[in-house]
Amino acid sequence: MDLLNTLVDKGLRRELPTREEALAVLATSDDDLLDVVAAAGKVRRQWFGRRVKLNYLVNLKSGLCPEDCSYCSQRLGSKAGILKYTWLKPDEASKAAAAGVAGGAKRVCLVASGRGPTDRDVDRVTKTIEAIKEQNEGVEVCACLGLLSDGQADRLRSAGADAYNHNLNTSEETYGAITTTHTYADRVETVQQAQAAGLSACSGLIAGMGESDKDLVDVVFALRDLDPDSVPVNFLIPFEGTPLAKEWNLTPQRCLRILAMVRFVCPDVEVRLAGGREVHLRSMQPLALHLVNSIFLGDYLTSEGQAGQADLDMIADAGFEVEGQGTTTLPRHRADALSGGGCGSQGAAEASGATGCGSHGGGGGCGSHEASGGGCGPCGGHGEPEPATVADAGAGVPARESVPAGAARTDLVAVRRRGAGTDLAPNA
Ligand code: SF4
Repeated sequence: MDLLNTLVDKGLRRELPTREEALAVLATSDDDLLDVVAAAGKVRRQWFGRRVKLNYLVNLKSGLCPEDCSYCSQRLGSKAGILKYTWLKPDEASKAAAAGVAGGAKRVCLVASGRGPTDRDVDRVTKTIEAIKEQNEGVEVCACLGLLSDGQADRLRSAGADAYNHNLNTSEETYGAITTTHTYADRVETVQQAQAAGLSACSGLIAGMGESDKDLVDVVFALRDLDPDSVPVNFLIPFEGTPLAKEWNLTPQRCLRILAMVRFVCPDVEVRLAGGREVHLRSMQPLALHLVNSIFLGDYLTSEGQAGQADLDMIADAGFEVEGQGTTTLPRHRADALSGGGCGSQGAAEASGATGCGSHGGGGGCGSHEASGGGCGPCGGHGEPEPATVADAGAGVPARESVPAGAARTDLVAVRRRGAGTDLAPNA
């Protein structure tokens, strides 16, 4: 297909596709899906080989947010039955982080619900970062605390934070339909503050909120303009008790096309498969590894992911490898730019970054403070999982019918009841 050949050539050269080309990827047919994955996979391998970076979420403070983000179970007025607790103590957070690191995570994402941190909150997070770094040598730390005020990004950087996450989530045009208590411009400003402080920026999106293809392309192009090192892609988990509870409109094929489009537009950036992967990609998750180079290990902020061991098995079975701590995530040109040493923009293709700057060149950040239901970030709790939508059939051996594309899969959504904020061991 000419379109795919063109996109591969551009991706290998780090050249921006046109909007029409990005829209055309989203419009490809199911017959062309494997060709789309194969093409975007070539770009992924050029810049990141077959490595998969593992990230681990620690929800420092859960629920009771005064903001009204429609997709979020922690929002004002949320009826979702999620865990609610105030700030974890530094040693509690460090213990949770250590479980993720022991499971293979090289980055820990510290997330707290709320509009943004007070200076006292930044003090708490500073102590938490210090505790985690002291007890987990070499680990990268990303903070995700909401909108930042003047000077807070610098303080987090001085405390040892490597990255800051704040997602754009959706297009500027539709942002007001998703959230009314802050603006798209507020979000852009926070990402820019993080970058100005020398933090590796992580900023992504949530798909599946009823947006159009144009909205998706708009937000991904806006992200490309912002130039974060990491782009988490969340797929909405429509939790009961949130305004978007009925928005079950993704299929595994649609998710793969979206991930391929993001890879073509942001070829050399850490593209992270975040919340909703188990719920929406289901048995197609391994194909997504050909497109993304980063995932979350284990559970999300307010929902449970598949077992950490299942994540590791999936990576190995699909022929990929977990990225080790001695490896820099980003391609050399981006890692050098982040450390202030070189050009991070257009240029000749370089090696996929097996070596490089050791400091905060890891790129990528947490999936989001505001990720979709399952992702990192205030997501939704769905209360108790509901029965499967497809009844077992037959009198003897229970048989399961196939689930129609785009059907609600509330059976795959479970509120997190273990790890941070509980007495139970975390899933990592
Ligand atoms: S996404 Fe963040 S700011 Fe928005 S309601 Fe949820 S916790 Fe609050």
